[in-house]
Amino acid sequence: MVRLYLAGPQVFLSDWKEQADKMKAICAQYGLEGVFPFDKEVNTCGLAPQEIGLSIFHKDEGLIRSCDAAVCCMTPMRGPSMDPGTAVEMGIMRGLGKPVFAYSNDHRSFCHRTSELLGDAVETMPDGQLRDEYGLCLEHDTGFADNLMCDGMVLACGSKGVARPEHPIADDEESLKAEMFRNLEHFKTVIQEVATSMNVTKEDLGRYMKPGSHPPDAACADVHIDFMKHALNEASAAVENGNHPFGAALVVEGEVVLCAQNTVCTDHDVTCHAEMNLVRLAQSRFDGATLRCATLYSSTSPCAMCSGAIYWARIGKVVYGCEPSVLGEIAGDELFFPLRESMSGGVLHKVDVVGPVLGEEAAAAHRAFWPSLDVEC
Ligand SMILES: [Zn+2]
Repeated sequence: MVRLYLAGPQVFLSDWKEQADKMKAICAQYGLEGVFPFDKEVNTCGLAPQEIGLSIFHKDEGLIRSCDAAVCCMTPMRGPSMDPGTAVEMGIMRGLGKPVFAYSNDHRSFCHRTSELLGDAVETMPDGQLRDEYGLCLEHDTGFADNLMCDGMVLACGSKGVARPEHPIADDEESLKAEMFRNLEHFKTVIQEVATSMNVTKEDLGRYMKPGSHPPDAACADVHIDFMKHALNEASAAVENGNHPFGAALVVEGEVVLCAQNTVCTDHDVTCHAEMNLVRLAQSRFDGATLRCATLYSSTSPCAMCSGAIYWARIGKVVYGCEPSVLGEIAGDELFFPLRESMSGGVLHKVDVVGPVLGEEAAAAHRAFWPSLDVEC
């Protein structure tokens, strides 16, 4: 059974046992085992205060290592931010290459809470930046539940992000205090996410965060989906123009600056893959510094030839749609190229690889094309 480390300030509640039992019961409903920090005891007999603290740390770290993922309560505690102990536990889990999920019972963003707390001590600088009385700037309003490193960690693991309410979870102050660290609605939402997105097997969890692998669609989809659609549109256009369903787009500073499509048939040239056409165009229009910061979106993971061109052009990042193995199954032919491994091993520079993004849509274009291939090339 998948073991979930339940991190959060609930350990400080007087009724922590009751709370832990409720959380474990919710996990059990979804076939998951909830592990609470107090599940393992520390023998503090004869230990000095510091030794007790260190023993608890080692005990918790051991429990974290024994679990497959963490579900963390990021509800702010005694200030604008989450419990620092929980933040450390999230970091340990992330460092172990295991997924981190999180929720908060506070509806406000981190920036909102910080501004509220600081009140008049916040000064707006001429450039619009907010600074506190020590001259430290406030993190810009990401809309995140907490510091961007905390939310970033959750998103980077492929989660949908920190689950939290849209409005205060209670109307009056007393109820709010009683509910803030006991309400389990958003905890349950996260447990459902763990259960549904991973099919609740250790193999799935392992694949989710395999070292060297990138998060699946969920983590990067929002950023890349719109740009990938340009590449997919090019793939459709390529078919309409009598070529193969491959398209590519180049994005510089958040804007699509170039698009290209496969022209193998119409140009009678097997090197006219969409990415090759795009790289040629890109090199004629942009300097090296621009290309190093550019992202190339490709409807299908680039082949060995195109990957070489992307590498030599020193384009900084590649985001792909369809996996090459999926194309191979559909088209019945595949010159497999380990894109991610090869691009990260470059000596001159490394190309970031992200994907699959819109993998299903990208594969659909191939399914519609290859089985009924009627192209003379
Ligand atoms: Zn190619």
